[in-house]
Amino acid sequence: MKEVLVISGKGGTGKTTLVSSLSNLKNGIVVADCDVDAPDLHLVLRPKVREEFEFRGGEFAYIDRKYCKMCGICVSVCQFDAISKDYIVDTFSCEGCGVCEWNCPEGAIHMKEKVQGKYFISDIETGKMVHAELYPGEENSGKLVSEVKKLAREVATKEGIENILIDGAPGIGCPVIASLSNVDFAIIVSEPTVSGIHDLERVISLCEFFKVKAKVVINKFDLNESKTEEIEKFCNKKNIPVLAKIPFSLEVVEALRQGLSVVEYKPNNGISKMFEELSFKLWEER
Ligand code: SF4
Ligand code: SF4
Repeated sequence: MKEVLVISGKGGTGKTTLVSSLSNLKNGIVVADCDVDAPDLHLVLRPKVREEFEFRGGEFAYIDRKYCKMCGICVSVCQFDAISKDYIVDTFSCEGCGVCEWNCPEGAIHMKEKVQGKYFISDIETGKMVHAELYPGEENSGKLVSEVKKLAREVATKEGIENILIDGAPGIGCPVIASLSNVDFAIIVSEPTVSGIHDLERVISLCEFFKVKAKVVINKFDLNESKTEEIEKFCNKKNIPVLAKIPFSLEVVEALRQGLSVVEYKPNNGISKMFEELSFKLWEER
C-alpha cells in the first residue's frame, strides 16, 4: 500500500487544487481528508456518504443532581471555571481533567464521553473517501486525524485498494503531526512569497524531525520567478525534489468557483496535463 500526504505551510497555497485533481485522476484510490478543522475537499469531490460514525475525542464532567449536596467544592477546585455557581458544567470550558470527580465528597460527579464530531466513509467517482467534521469549538483534531487515517487504511485493505492520498492540514500543528505517521512521503505545496518560503522551511524541518521524505510542488511559480529560484536552490541544497512548478491560471480559480477540480473543468489545459504527469509519478513510480 502506498500513502502520499499533501501538506502546506499555511492555508490557501493551492493544496485543495492539487489534491482534488490527483483524486480525480487515479482510479482505485482512497482519499483521506485530514484537514478536519477546515475541510473543503468534499465541496469538489462530492462524496456520497455510505457510513457515518461519531467521534468521541474527550470527556466532560457530569453532575448527578440526585446526589449533589451543593457544598461548592467542585466549583472551587475547577481550574477552568467550567462549573457555574448553580452547579452546571459548561461542556465547552470543561477540559475533562477529572479533578472535580476526585474531590466530590458525595460521588455525585462522573465523567461522560463527549461527541466532538463525525466521520464518514463515502463513495467518490474514483474510489472511496474518508472524511470528517469536527463540531464548532471542539478540539482534539489530532486524534480525529488519526481516526480518519486508520479508517482510510481499513477501507483500502477491505476494498483491495493500493493507493491512499491524504489531504493534510496546513501549518505545523497537532493535526499535521498526526497526519505524518507512516506515509511514504509528503508533498509540500509552496508559493513563491517571503512568507511562503518561511512556511516551507518550517514544514520541511517538521518532516526531517519525523523522518518523513519530503517533495515539493511550487504553485503559481511565475508570479515571482526569483523567489521560485530561491525555493529551488533551497530544495536542491536539502536534496528535496521539486516535482512540479504550476503556473498561475484563472482557469484554476474558475474551476474551484464552480466546485470542480481543474482536470474535470479543463482536462486538456496545460495544468491538467502537469497534474496527469504528477499523478503518474506518484503512483506508478516505485
Ligand atoms: S462537590 Fe459534589 S456535592 Fe459538592 S457541589 Fe460539587 S457535585 Fe455537589
Ligand atoms: S473535569 Fe476538570 S475542567 Fe471539567 S469541570 Fe471538572 S474540574 Fe473542571
